Amino acid sequence: MVLKVYNTLLRKKTPFIPRNGKNVQLFVCGPTVYDYSHIGHARTYVAFDVIARYLQYKGYDVFYLQNITDIDDKIIIRAREEGVGWKELADKYTKAYLEDVAALKITGVNKYAPATQYVDAILRQVRTLVEKGYAYELDDGIYYDVSQFTEYGKLSGRTVEEAGDAVSRIDEAIGKRTRADFCLWKRHKPGEPYWESELGRGRPGWHIEDTAITETEFGPTYDIHGGAQDLIFPHHEAEIAQMEAISGKKPMVKYWLHTGFLKVEGRKMSKSRGNFITIHEALNKWDVDTLRLMLVSTHYRSPINHSESAVEQAQDSLRYIRAATKSGKKRVAVKKWIETFVDAMDDDFNTPKVVALLLEMAKRMNKTEEELSPAIYEIGEVLGIDFRLEEKPLPPELMKLIKKREELREQKRWEEADRIREEMKKKGILLNDTPEGTEWVVKIV
Ligand code: AMP
Repeated sequence: MVLKVYNTLLRKKTPFIPRNGKNVQLFVCGPTVYDYSHIGHARTYVAFDVIARYLQYKGYDVFYLQNITDIDDKIIIRAREEGVGWKELADKYTKAYLEDVAALKITGVNKYAPATQYVDAILRQVRTLVEKGYAYELDDGIYYDVSQFTEYGKLSGRTVEEAGDAVSRIDEAIGKRTRADFCLWKRHKPGEPYWESELGRGRPGWHIEDTAITETEFGPTYDIHGGAQDLIFPHHEAEIAQMEAISGKKPMVKYWLHTGFLKVEGRKMSKSRGNFITIHEALNKWDVDTLRLMLVSTHYRSPINHSESAVEQAQDSLRYIRAATKSGKKRVAVKKWIETFVDAMDDDFNTPKVVALLLEMAKRMNKTEEELSPAIYEIGEVLGIDFRLEEKPLPPELMKLIKKREELREQKRWEEADRIREEMKKKGILLNDTPEGTEWVVKIV
């Protein structure tokens, strides 16, 4: 089967045919580095890591580029609050982000591009937009005139009139021609960072950094652009308006992919709401394979409702699959299992189906002793989950209970021993008495 992906621009799944044979240029919006990243970010970045890994698995030569927004209002405000320089703050959180990414086993990204290293390209783009009549000047900056771009709204399905309802980051200014007009170059205000330029002292607006980076690295058109769904509007709409106006070439991006949010009690996990768990905290609590399995258990376009029980379920599944890989004794062909995996992933990266498949394979190994581990490990490489690892011991209190039960059995106090067995079973842990002692396995029931 051919890989099909859901393209936000076309609002349907279409076959994936990159522009240039086996080469794929992938760009994903990176973080604004003014705070630690949370597991909402992990949701989006793990999803695109799996997508990049799968494209590589299919034989594509992927170049995965990610920007880092290292100059922005939020950075300036936070730096002021903390009494540090904006650059110092941005550097600190860029470093923290890169550490988080490594800890999450995100290996697919080829290049991180900090916006401040592309100011010349940004200025070139703003100048072109002014020259072509797509931008105008106000006292506080240079603005994009969305009414000049006839296809404005084609990604989000919004009209210029509806554009004022943006949920995020619309630039406020007196004198804008249309409410949706956005700032390309912000004039210098006292106490703010700036770059000297023929357009006047100032700093880049948010949307222009991404098109300047992608034009520099990929050219005016490329294959895939990703981010979470909140970025469809106004951010990605603005990118299209900028780049297609500058180059006259379209589509700027052939496939637009957007992830669903990770939510807490029905609301998006976000820094501004303060309802977040940092990646660092999460990885202190759960191991990375558990976290990744929890994230890929939901389709990348669907929302994830974060809960302790969802993580615990992923932990149980991981233990169950790992334990099952030890029971494979009979050699069998694994081709048909791999084909089922490929079919699921070819259907717009259907990772929940893949997780169900892994559980089915584990069950089969337990039942028949067929050796399916090589296929499980191969699938694990694409999901970035290590199913080879030895299971860590159970928590000490449960190990103590197992030991106590062994003593009770030695004393032939069967009823009390059985009560412990039942107690463990309720926790999803099955005990198996062998001549060497008690073995345990975590079961999915
Ligand atoms: P930001 O740091 O807010 O600029 O976000 C960086 C990237 O992470 C963007 O693609 C966001 O849309 C995405 N993101 C932020 N919060 C969440 C969330 N709760 N769930 C999924 N993706 C998110």
